[in-house]
Amino acid sequence: MTTPTDRLAALRSAYIASHPASARQHEAACAHLPGGNTRSVLFHEPFPLAFTRGEGARLWDADGHVYTDLLGEFTAGLHGHSNPVIRAAIDTALDAGLNLGGHNLLESRLADLVSARVPSMQLLRFTNSGTEANLMALAAATAYTGRRKILVFKGGYHGGLLTFAGGGSPVNVPHDFVVGRYNDLAGAQALMAAHAAELAAVLVEPMQGAGGCIPGEPAFLRGLREATRAAGALLIFDEVMTSRLAPGGRQALLGITPDLTTLGKYIGGGMSFGAFGGRADVMALFDPRRPGHLPHAGTFNNNVLTMSAGIAALSQVYTPAAATVLNARGDALRERLNALCRAQGAPLQFTGLGSLMNLHATAAPIRSVDDLPTDGQPLRDAFFFHLLEHGFYIARRGFISLSLPLTDGDLDGFAAAVERFVDSL
Ligand code: PLP
Repeated sequence: MTTPTDRLAALRSAYIASHPASARQHEAACAHLPGGNTRSVLFHEPFPLAFTRGEGARLWDADGHVYTDLLGEFTAGLHGHSNPVIRAAIDTALDAGLNLGGHNLLESRLADLVSARVPSMQLLRFTNSGTEANLMALAAATAYTGRRKILVFKGGYHGGLLTFAGGGSPVNVPHDFVVGRYNDLAGAQALMAAHAAELAAVLVEPMQGAGGCIPGEPAFLRGLREATRAAGALLIFDEVMTSRLAPGGRQALLGITPDLTTLGKYIGGGMSFGAFGGRADVMALFDPRRPGHLPHAGTFNNNVLTMSAGIAALSQVYTPAAATVLNARGDALRERLNALCRAQGAPLQFTGLGSLMNLHATAAPIRSVDDLPTDGQPLRDAFFFHLLEHGFYIARRGFISLSLPLTDGDLDGFAAAVERFVDSL
């Protein structure tokens, strides 16, 4: 029997042999970037791939290999590489000049489009990333309530400075965090009761994305809505990833209205993007006409490339109909992959919702990161290198995010590669 560790060793040797140009690029990058890296999630041993080009749903690496892109830039690349409509919108913005240093005609149009899609965002402001959006939402919540504590959940990821994978991170911002267990409503209620008078907000992903595509159970999320209301704290939905799961985000699917929502990723049409917004009375804190208003700065907040690309993407490319179709295709793919694992009796499953999914090395139910096997990484690494060998690119942690240009043939090919992996175990 081949163990995942044996299989991984063979796959890694083949990877090293067939990617000399990526290896050289990594070595050169180490001169001035620590570990050759400027974005931690992209690094993996023995060295990461260096890409040279993307088109539609395809990627090319420095060694000339071509891959079907099933990562879709961790959800930001939903539209595929160089979508012509978005490309034209960027060209139009370029023609009118960059860095105007003032208001432009685009920012309010994008705000209107976002608010129409996510009506709980009565007022909103743009940032350059999802991280910044969450930092600003927390600032809004603490200022609005005059309280300091924030309830978050183990496994949650709200940006590089707000990460709770192992419960926290040395580079997190120094908010007064209380960490609960995801999908444990009774536990969250107990923590909220213990900190009620000091609790400013609950910050939660409607599905934990980086934590492994673990969906929040409707009763858990609804319970948080009721409990925050009772405690006078704000409920912040981080929909940076999950807003793509339906035309109005997961909040629309569940019929839950948070006080604040944060967005990011694909909404800027593939340009740097973030947004935070919600109840008009909370967001009015940032109204510069009001005495004592809160500042919110950012040179690139209303940059014309993002605004123009975002308008085109939301109004013409990721339309409500396109969102519904893509997520139905994702649901069908995930069910197909899980059926395949079950048929072989493999200790594997794909969790997730709609167009987002993650492989885990267990067939047991997963409700929080505490249910994940601690020794699952060799298997996920073997899966990652196996897929590269078969021409498919996903995240090393087993994360898959579908993009619009993927064809049914691409997904059939992927399912066949997964089947070969399961058979090989
Ligand atoms: N929130 C969630 C749920 C995310 O998945 C991410 C990024 O993966 C962020 C926030 C941070 O977004 P950004 O990388 O744009 O800072």
